[in-house]
Amino acid sequence: MDIFVQIYTMLNIILFGKPGSGKGTQAEFIKEKYELVHISTGDLFRQNIKNQTELGKLAQKYMNNGDLVPDSVTIGMLKSEVESNIYANGFLFDGFPRTVDQAVSLDKFLDKKNLRIDLTIAIDVNEEILIERILNRGLTSGRKDDQDKIKIKNRFDEYNSKTSLLEDYYKNQNKFKIIDGYGNIEEITKRLYNQIDQFI
Ligand code: ADP
Repeated sequence: MDIFVQIYTMLNIILFGKPGSGKGTQAEFIKEKYELVHISTGDLFRQNIKNQTELGKLAQKYMNNGDLVPDSVTIGMLKSEVESNIYANGFLFDGFPRTVDQAVSLDKFLDKKNLRIDLTIAIDVNEEILIERILNRGLTSGRKDDQDKIKIKNRFDEYNSKTSLLEDYYKNQNKFKIIDGYGNIEEITKRLYNQIDQFI
């Protein structure tokens, strides 16, 4: 009975947004408020690189160039992260899925566990502003992919050619919302809470 209740009260959200749009910053607030487990594939990769694991070594060259890490690697990593937090109140996915194959795999994987994505929210900010923000972040983040305009543009290209297809994917499931990503951090947090509160 406990497990039944647990499964059907889960809240699973995906945050979308181009590099630099503030997903990571906002995820911190959302996970606290709604008591979700935050899964950021970018953070997981960076952790693996720091610890020089096999997975980290594999991901490093893709990340440094601003290319997506192959689905074969990313999907496995994501699944094992979900498995190890399976009794969470819900998940906040940040940076995953980024391709249609990743989204399809995620749906199948959740479905087998009687779970589903409830809501996806994209934070919308224009690329000119994002480039400024990312270069600024690069001064302190130490991230190689934040320090070079060509790599940043490549990340946008990856988003526009692969990740943006997910807008239709989730619109077809009636789960796609978009919020304005301009303004100060608090205002954007409020817009996100507002979308989530309308859902729950
Ligand atoms: P940002 O969105 O600011 O570019 P992330 O931390 O989300 O930063 O991702 C950094 C890098 O990690 C990406 O450019 C990509 O190389 C890799 N990565 C993260 N998530 C995925 C994913 N779902 N699929 C493939 N590669 C990913």
